Amino acid sequence: MDFLKRRYGNMPNPYLHKLVERYAPKFDSQPKEFVEPIPDDYFIWWLFKHRCIMCSQTGHEINEINPRGRSKFAILDWHNRVTLCQDCHRLFHKDGVTDKKQEEMRVRRAEFLVSVGRGQYV
Ligand SMILES: [Zn+2]
Repeated sequence: MDFLKRRYGNMPNPYLHKLVERYAPKFDSQPKEFVEPIPDDYFIWWLFKHRCIMCSQTGHEINEINPRGRSKFAILDWHNRVTLCQDCHRLFHKDGVTDKKQEEMRVRRAEFLVSVGRGQYV
């Protein structure tokens, strides 16, 4: 993955998403494996299988549940980072991020991880 990172930086790569969508087995069909969690973008994309955790469509953006503007540690905590589609990301930030929205997203994150067989990362 290092060469990918040098080439593309930390930007999500739409072409890679298309490839994953086309060739990766869907959802729970992959064998259980344990990958050491880190807050790195590649781990976050892997963790959520390139899906939006809210609607399960293809994800396009990484979101910090506790926004970056409020904590300098927001991007350093992998529990705080999730992948979203553009619509759900926009909705999350529309009219400000409230405690209620954050709580809903934390619950949804846990539900999503369990649903894709990655409950060990909740
Ligand atoms: Zn979505």
